[in-house]
Amino acid sequence: MTDSGPVTDNGSWLIKGVTILASGQQGDEPTSILIDGGSVTAIGPDLDHPGARTLDAGGLIALPGLVDLHTHLREPGREDAETVETGTAAAALGGYAAVHAMANTDPVADTAGVVEQVWRLGRTAGHCDVQPVGAVTVGLGGARLAELGTMADSAARVRVFSDDGRCVSDPLLMRRALEYVKAFDGVIAQHAQDPRLTEGAQLNEGEMSARLGLAGWPAVAEEAVIARDCLLAAHVGSALHVCHVSTAGSAEIIRWAKSKGWRVTAEVTPHHLLLTDELAAGYDPVFKVNPPLRTEADVAELRRALADGTIDCVATDHAPHPVEAKESEWAEAAFGMTGLETALRVVQRAMVDTGLLDWAGVADRMSVRPARIGRLTGHGIPPAAPAEAVTTAGASKSRNTPFAGMELPGRVVATFLRGVPTVLDGKLA
Ligand SMILES: [Zn+2]
Repeated sequence: MTDSGPVTDNGSWLIKGVTILASGQQGDEPTSILIDGGSVTAIGPDLDHPGARTLDAGGLIALPGLVDLHTHLREPGREDAETVETGTAAAALGGYAAVHAMANTDPVADTAGVVEQVWRLGRTAGHCDVQPVGAVTVGLGGARLAELGTMADSAARVRVFSDDGRCVSDPLLMRRALEYVKAFDGVIAQHAQDPRLTEGAQLNEGEMSARLGLAGWPAVAEEAVIARDCLLAAHVGSALHVCHVSTAGSAEIIRWAKSKGWRVTAEVTPHHLLLTDELAAGYDPVFKVNPPLRTEADVAELRRALADGTIDCVATDHAPHPVEAKESEWAEAAFGMTGLETALRVVQRAMVDTGLLDWAGVADRMSVRPARIGRLTGHGIPPAAPAEAVTTAGASKSRNTPFAGMELPGRVVATFLRGVPTVLDGKLA
């Protein structure tokens, strides 16, 4: 829930029989949550409220509304793949109350005008809050710093900046960006990929790339950039966020940087917690993603790093593509997978069902910490969204999900934003 925005229905709701499993409020006993006037006003076993609508949540658990630090909404420019309306509907169905919209749109979100446009589209859609991410460099060109200050001062109040999709590979530019955002407590979110080491790369460099005869994307191309950026962030005393960590070595570098007390945070995607490069064996481009799926050993280490807090949070890197962009030969197909509607279920399977993380941990990694890293006020406050993990309907315009047909646990039953349901009974409210 948050203190601003377009949702104005102040009807009250009594969520009955729910188990609250969120940071700081863990308990096993089913209880009730009263939502009134746009916020949770009471929690207890015997609540009653005249006129309140009732949601029977017996057997369900409540988590704070999820927050995604890494969503590609594609609008403006690629409305054939996704719009703010369809992307945020998918987010709500996945249990999300807020998403950060990446800047690689057309035009690029590198000015106050574009970030304000995306921010307004999010308010109009109303399914969840949309916090625009600003580009680090003009046009994602990697040559000149974008207007970081004017985006920060705009109505969209941008705090996270990223050229995601591309790496800010010039070390001097990265240093300047890190220095610049210190003035307003901003953070630079880096897509760590050395461009020279990954020219033409198609999938993880290893046994599988050799077997398939496709150009490899070596782990060192990610790890070298992360190591450099951790050192730069430490040197200038600024905040670095590492996008979609995909290798065991990257997790080790981030663990080291954190042990030094440096301001480094990191995210991992649901797909990197569950899938491996073995899936490329059938040349199905639905498994083509950047950074690529890695090995079993990488997956195991990423899970461990998320469990021990080295990796702060789960972020979807929801990357919708129109059918024609994915239904081609592997080498021609676009990189990316959708993820908003399946993230919670995948995390349940990879982390909860394996005993690596409890539900309080999930609330922390999928709501509390991403809200903090994204500098969002009013989010990441348990409990806000009663959920049992997962989603039923497909709302994203695109269908490039690697999890279609895969058995995943749980489902999202309801999502609330500022006290108003955006999803009820697994469907858009
Ligand atoms: Zn990226």
